[in-house]
Order: sequence, then structure tokens, then C-alpha cells
Amino acid sequence: MGAALCAALERYCGREWSEETAQAWSRVFGVIAQVMMAAAASDAQTSPAWWQGEVQSVEPVTRDIAVVTLRTDHPYPYRAGQYASIEVPWWPRVWRNYSLATPSSVPAARPGADGLLRLHVKAVPAGWVSNALVHRAQPGDIVRLGPPQGRMVVDPHERDPLLLVGGGTGVAPLLAIVEELALSGARRTVELHYGARRAEELYALTALRELDRRLPWLSVHSAVAEPSPGMRPVPGTERGALSEVIARSGPWDGYNACLSGPSAMIRRTRAVLLDAGVPTEHILYDLEEGQM
Ligand SMILES: Cc1cc2nc3c(=O)[nH]c(=O)nc-3n(C[C@H](O)[C@H](O)[C@H](O)COP(=O)(O)OP(=O)(O)OC[C@H]3O[C@@H](n4cnc5c(N)ncnc54)[C@H](O)[C@@H]3O)c2cc1C
Repeated sequence: MGAALCAALERYCGREWSEETAQAWSRVFGVIAQVMMAAAASDAQTSPAWWQGEVQSVEPVTRDIAVVTLRTDHPYPYRAGQYASIEVPWWPRVWRNYSLATPSSVPAARPGADGLLRLHVKAVPAGWVSNALVHRAQPGDIVRLGPPQGRMVVDPHERDPLLLVGGGTGVAPLLAIVEELALSGARRTVELHYGARRAEELYALTALRELDRRLPWLSVHSAVAEPSPGMRPVPGTERGALSEVIARSGPWDGYNACLSGPSAMIRRTRAVLLDAGVPTEHILYDLEEGQM
């Protein structure tokens, strides 16, 4: 490739190309290739380029959301709050990001760790990967996972209070964070706000309320943006979009915040928190490139 690149440069640079330039390019290309190959070789010692995940179960929790449980062929070394890119066998080379809803089980010796990964996947209309995971995947199917990514990682030993805001399946990484804090024995004050468009979409509320009862440092709040015709309101659930609920609660100064869910919700809630005096570096979230 180095030779081809230099030949192309020589051809198109015309008289600008000299023996000296050719030698400089060749040296630079050599250095870059060496650094990349050495880094790839050292990375391969500790982590593969991808993991295989065998589908263990697909449990529907609403009409279009399912909890997908995977077992990886090697331990998957992520931190609670992170996400994995996933490729399903029916759409080769199409990768989509899904948050991990379970606390990390590495080291596998942790008591009670089953080594399984859980994803909360919402099938979006005409979406390729999400529909395959929710409506097509069966136990025994093999998906591929890229290395874990994401900056929404919480230090259990920090003492600042924590605000977790999750919209829809955005609650998945927040569940992992809460459970990881519980496992680490942390005593951080945690306010968790969980919202959805409609009451019937609050599929994780029962599990969250159970955690709220069990963990004295956790308070769970829920909100729905639109009333559901013919359905009774869920007791204890506020009306309003999450950003509105956050704007009228607080005060939030002194808090660290993690925001997870649809990009519009993240943008609005971030603006509310910045207005409330939370410094930008205390607000963690992960978005697709170009979504902010
Ligand atoms: C950090 C991060 C974490 C995430 N975590 C989760 C999670 O935990 N759970 C979850 O469910 N999702 C999560 N997502 C979203 C997820 O990555 C996917 O974007 C989502 O599942 C849709 O992927 P898809 O392949 O099904 O849809 P796509 O095929 O990408 O389609 C997306 C939308 O575009 C429309 N579309 C596609 N092609 C066309 C076309 N040719 N013309 C017109 N419209 C088109 C589709 O109708 C659909 O509405 C996360 C995203 C990020 C960035």
C-alpha cells in the first residue's frame, strides 16, 4: 500500500515530486504503519476485534421492546453505562449501538454474576437491526459485538450526588449503573428519572421501584409525556417530558448527571441542567456522531 500511495503521489504531484520528497513519504508511511501494526498486535493480546454473542432469550416487554440476553464467547470487559455495537447475521456489516443493561461481570468471580449481557431493544419502524433483534432473533443465533464504548461511566467512590435521566430504552444503562453502585457498596445519593411517551411504555418501572425499595440511597421518579386514552394514570407518575420534569425539580447544582435516551431528550435536558448551573463536564451522555 505504501508503494502504491507513493506512486500515486508521484504521478499527480508532477514536478513538485523529488527524490527527497519520495524518501520523506516512504519514511513517514513506514513509521505510521509500524505504530498501527504494533498497537493492533498489543491490543490483540488482551481483547479480540469482536466477540461472538449467542442469543439466550428474547423476552418481549412491550409490543415493540424486548430484553435480549446474550452469552459471549470470551469475557466482555465493559463498565456499567457503556454500550456495544452489534451486528446481526441477517444484515452483515450493518452495526448498531445498544447499551448494556447489566452490571459488568468481569471479573467473572463476582458472586451472583451469570456472565450474561442484557440489551433492551426497541424495534423502530423499518429499522434493520432493531427489528431483527426484537422480532427475528431466536435462542442459539449468533450476533457479533464490537469493543465496549461510551463515556457514561460512573466512579462508585466519588461522593457527589448523581442524577440519572433515562427516556425509553435509555433506562437500560442506568439500571446497570445503579446495580454496579449497589454491588460496589457505594452510598452515593442517586435520583433516577425515568420517562416515556405513554404509560404503557414504562416497562422497567416495576424493576426500578423494587430497587428503590431495596436501596436507601436511590430515589426513582417516573414521568409520561402524553396521556393514554382509556388507561388509568400510573400512580406516582408525573405528567411531562423529562426535560420539563427536571426543570421543575432540583436544585441540581453539585450533581453529576448521566443522560440516556432519544437525542432530542438528551439535548433538552442538558440545556436545562446547564441553565441550572451544572458544569458541562459534569453531564455525561453518548450520542451518535453529529447528533448534538
Ligand atoms: C450510544 C447509543 C446507545 C443506544 N442504545 C440503544 C438501546 O439500548 N436500545 C435501543 O433500542 N436503541 C439504542 N440505540 C439506538 C440504536 O443504535 C439504533 O439506532 C436503533 O436501534 C435503530 O437501528 P435500526 O438498524 O433498527 O434502524 P435503521 O435501519 O438504522 O433505521 C433508523 C430509522 O431510519 C429510517 N430509515 C432507514 N432507512 C431509511 C431509508 N432508506 N429511507 C427512509 N428512512 C429510512 C427507519 O425507518 C428508521 O426509523 C442507541 C444509540 C446510541 C447512539
